[in-house]
Amino acid sequence: MVHFLLHKLAFNCHLLLRDHIRDTKARLNIWLKAIDNSQLLGRFRVWCFQYGIIPRLQWPFLLYDFPMTQVEAMERLCSKFVRKWLGVPPSFSSVNLYSRLGLGNYNAKRWSKANAKGKRGLVVQRIRETVEEDRRVKVVGLACQGQWMQWDQALERSLSWKELWGTEQGKLTFLLRAVSDLLPTPKNLKIWGKEEDPSCKQCGATLCTLNHILNGCPKALGEGRYRWRHDKVLTEVAKWVDQQRVKANKNQASRPEVVNFQSKGDKAPRARTTAKNLPSILQRASDWEMQVDLKRKLVFPQDVAVTSLRPDMVLLSRSTKTILVVELTVPWEGRLAISHQLKKAKYQDLIDEALIKGWHATVFPIEVGCRGFPATSVRYFLQKFGLEPKHLKIATREIAMAAETSSRWLWLMRAHSWNPSAGEG
Ligand SMILES: [Zn+2]
Repeated sequence: MVHFLLHKLAFNCHLLLRDHIRDTKARLNIWLKAIDNSQLLGRFRVWCFQYGIIPRLQWPFLLYDFPMTQVEAMERLCSKFVRKWLGVPPSFSSVNLYSRLGLGNYNAKRWSKANAKGKRGLVVQRIRETVEEDRRVKVVGLACQGQWMQWDQALERSLSWKELWGTEQGKLTFLLRAVSDLLPTPKNLKIWGKEEDPSCKQCGATLCTLNHILNGCPKALGEGRYRWRHDKVLTEVAKWVDQQRVKANKNQASRPEVVNFQSKGDKAPRARTTAKNLPSILQRASDWEMQVDLKRKLVFPQDVAVTSLRPDMVLLSRSTKTILVVELTVPWEGRLAISHQLKKAKYQDLIDEALIKGWHATVFPIEVGCRGFPATSVRYFLQKFGLEPKHLKIATREIAMAAETSSRWLWLMRAHSWNPSAGEG
């Protein structure tokens, strides 16, 4: 009897679920088409989708245990429209839209807040996690578009609505396509059957990929295109570091002197021993000087170490004999980790020599992926220099934007002679 009841119950639930799925799908279709038929601009359509459709979808997802295949089918449908509205190519995988760029990290927080009372929020989160996991599995299989899966060191980046509004369509399309290597590079044009010659218009290399255009073209390198982008990013980094430096010098100078009882044998007072616990490495001193290698102006202080190396930034405190060396790389995202290791190794001798001469020396190799994805090393570096979470976020975004905007200019100039000034601003 019990068995029979259970069976009946299960059967009814199954029927109900099927109805709900059919109903939800039908409504989703109507909503999407309504937005699609509107006269709105692409981005506004996506906005309507995010704030009009997604919350409505979450209710049935919350109440009923939708099978994953059904959730996926609905997502595919949504992706089709979102892709169209954002102007990204049809081959652009939905996985990308939802993951790395964070477009799909829809109000997850808002949502869970609204439903914090019950377990239901957790159920939906579970679904999301499973779906995300599934996407990851799938994306690994996509050779071209899945490249970002190898960006181990890259920070997640979310495309905020503010950014989406403020970004002109061309820039947005560049970012979305660049991430997935779906820009019309000579190599891709050849694959798509649109052009015969996949070679580089600058140096004549036989296979011109996006990586070649943005990082590997010897002619572009010789003309200083990459240096130009590097300096754009460096300027942004230096701006934030200098702010921190000025702040540190001011804070320390205004701090009342601590009376140190010293025996006669002691020399100058040592740097505070609690420096390790301080939030900012700059708080160790109040006489920070800074040099930035913009326009190749940096001269490494020869009393610290004799070297032909010219790092991108040097911060020096003579009173505490501390030197901080910063080296920036703007590599292809797949090379973030290796770039870090190479730069670290490159500066080891210099650090050793400085230590022998009695300096506290630290090197900070930082990497900002050329398509606008800073490595975790950037966050670590900015934290070490005392940026508060709020500023850390803004700084990271601005640094990312400097790389992305410059790379877009390099992309636009790929078949033209080099004119950096036209890309300013
Ligand atoms: Zn080339």
